[in-house]
Amino acid sequence: MNKTKVIASIGPASQDEATLKALMMNGIDAVRINMSHADFDFCDDIVRKVQTLNQTLKKNVAIMVDIPGPTVRIDRVKDGCVTFKAGTTVCIHMKEITGDHTKISVNYPGLASDVKCHSIIKIDDGKIILEVIDKEPEMLICNVIQGGLVRDHKSLNVPGVPLNIPFLRDYDRQIITYAHQNHLDFLALSFVRSSEDILEVNDLLIELGNDHLGIVAKIENEKAIEDIDQIIKASDAVMVARGDLGVEIPFERLPGLQKMILRKCHIAGVVSIVATEILSSMEDEMIPTRAEVSDLANAVLDGVDAVMLSGETTTGKYPVETTMMMERIIASSEEDINYYEFVETSMRTEKQDITGNIAYSVTDCANRLKCIAIVAPTVTGYTARKISRFRPSCPIIALCPDPETARSLALHFAVQPVHVKKLDQLDKMIHVAKECVKTYIERNEGHYILTGGYPFEGVKHTNFMKVEEL
Ligand code: PGA
Ligand code: MN
Repeated sequence: MNKTKVIASIGPASQDEATLKALMMNGIDAVRINMSHADFDFCDDIVRKVQTLNQTLKKNVAIMVDIPGPTVRIDRVKDGCVTFKAGTTVCIHMKEITGDHTKISVNYPGLASDVKCHSIIKIDDGKIILEVIDKEPEMLICNVIQGGLVRDHKSLNVPGVPLNIPFLRDYDRQIITYAHQNHLDFLALSFVRSSEDILEVNDLLIELGNDHLGIVAKIENEKAIEDIDQIIKASDAVMVARGDLGVEIPFERLPGLQKMILRKCHIAGVVSIVATEILSSMEDEMIPTRAEVSDLANAVLDGVDAVMLSGETTTGKYPVETTMMMERIIASSEEDINYYEFVETSMRTEKQDITGNIAYSVTDCANRLKCIAIVAPTVTGYTARKISRFRPSCPIIALCPDPETARSLALHFAVQPVHVKKLDQLDKMIHVAKECVKTYIERNEGHYILTGGYPFEGVKHTNFMKVEEL
């Protein structure tokens, strides 16, 4: 059983029930619905299918919904697709028009005042590059530096230029309300600029009375890098969104920034996610490149919690084969993780934090005894999360009476959430723990550790560990 989690973005290549089922059987831990491309009908369809499959397959696959946030998009263009030629002039209008090879309009009318002359504008992940040569109040006049095909609704980046777009627009608010009403698990925030943006989302969640949705901050521009410490503090998870980040900043900085963000998340005990182009050659081919294998392995060796597939599972030819390949590379890479180093570099938190100290001891003990599992009954998920940050070498089976808690643990390294009936007696807990180890762990002998809080009523922290043998 792998400890590094896998998120699969869902699109036309994976939306049918058979493919979703195959992805879930192959070990994905969460699905992502990207609302920059999907609509509410698509969302409804996927949510119903995943919820039903969770029941029939007895899985706890989480659903993440991704809001577009302060992104600028191109409006409609003639026949859905036009060509910009290098050296020609293209005008960007602030009022909606149907675009052609000489003009387009965008969904953010403030662009003309935010952008300066000589600013660089990139379209479609940087494939097309424009330079602003002149401006009028309602229009930007640009020279095409690098031409290419421009499709409807593609996103547009202005690297290094802070845009005055409000973080949440109507559509984002509708998506968050939808996520709340449908009991979804994670909310991914595109183009977060600072912790203030996250606080704005938190305010909306408080207004809605939602205390369940986990916040995933997507780091995809320089602004977010500048405020990374505060963003990590305010989030449940942080995603290194390499697609847009590599357009907004010189992409040669990506590997260093990725390592920096993973390290900071690990120290803070916040979930880290690496996204985009993980196995992108598998969109067309049955096998990945050596470089992709290495990239994925390095993220695992650096202790990432989860990796995310995008094009590979949304529009690629081999969504199921890609997830199988992913699990195979992860399994092998996890053998090479330096678990002893991770235990020592994780913060044991405040001296008086009893759960933190027990979690450290449980992990250290599990690693030294080469335990086959750690079993943690948990009502809120707290015990399992605390142990996960020390990166144990064996899986943590989290016994959760609440299915929402089980799904909230989907992205945490090593945590295998299992939905169980309420555990109200110690004997019963010991029995269920043993049964779960037998069910979920492939090995049929060895030691495992049971840890939790006892007595059940009134104890607010983890206070015991018990070494058992199968
Ligand atoms: P996206 O985010 O797939 O929503 O654009 C990920 C990224 O930019 O890497
Ligand atoms: Mn992005």
